[in-house]
Amino acid sequence: VLEARNVRKSFGHVEVLKGIDLEVRTGETVVVLGPSGSGKSTFLRCINLLESVDGGRILVDGNDVGYEVVDERLHELHPNEVARRRRDIGMVFQQFNLFPHMTVLENIIEGPVGVRGEKKQVAIERAKRLLEQVGLAHREDSYPRQLSGGQQQRVAIARALAMEPKLMLFDEPTSALDPELVGEVLKTMEELANEGLTMVVVTHEISFAREAADRVVFMDGGVIVEQGTPDQVIDNPQHERTRAFLARFL
Ligand code: ATP
Ligand code: MG
Repeated sequence: VLEARNVRKSFGHVEVLKGIDLEVRTGETVVVLGPSGSGKSTFLRCINLLESVDGGRILVDGNDVGYEVVDERLHELHPNEVARRRRDIGMVFQQFNLFPHMTVLENIIEGPVGVRGEKKQVAIERAKRLLEQVGLAHREDSYPRQLSGGQQQRVAIARALAMEPKLMLFDEPTSALDPELVGEVLKTMEELANEGLTMVVVTHEISFAREAADRVVFMDGGVIVEQGTPDQVIDNPQHERTRAFLARFL
């Protein structure tokens, strides 16, 4: 589903991504670990075209995000086409950013109806199924402020899924939550992983990585230092930098 090749990104003189290569296959859950400032968020933002890359390529389902190949050269896509391709990629952030003046159900159908032009009834049916999936079937008429942080984040996940993305990106989805609410969100994500959703998850929750990840990637200083199964990377890290990072969580 996702293929990143030699992705480079600088902010001013600072090179934040120094050639990232990553492949994510359909149904795979990849957890990205790494210290603060290692470029994890920047990488996700490049995949989702919130940032442009300075070098390398990112393909989703074989298509460059943001570009098309004509006569073997990359050309920037029309903004409409970029927007259309971005819909294939769902993203959940640390801050849930629900629309405060809309109910839970309205938040979820906004994308499908407002952006994709879907029939309202069809969108509502799917929204209800998704709410059931994230364990909030009874809260469709609530407003975000009436929900806990964990519940709001689960609505944000349902809202992203409502666009039927091919790939879901999570950027520290639980780090803004009170500790007692983290578990319910991780449980929802673990269920999605088990159901075969293709996801890339940046998190510091090592236990989630162990339980849900097919592959763990350790990033530091803008490069992928090592990757492998949770067993390999978390329990038998090969690199000193990985060991030093993981030591903090023991
Ligand atoms: P954290 O774990 O703290 O979220 P991260 O691995 O997600 O860290 P990034 O947010 O990708 O790290 O940031 C990587 C580096 O890029 C940092 O040094 C950061 O200061 C820098 N950076 C990120 N975004 C910008 C920006 N828009 N302009 C300038 N520098 C930026
Ligand atoms: Mg980050």
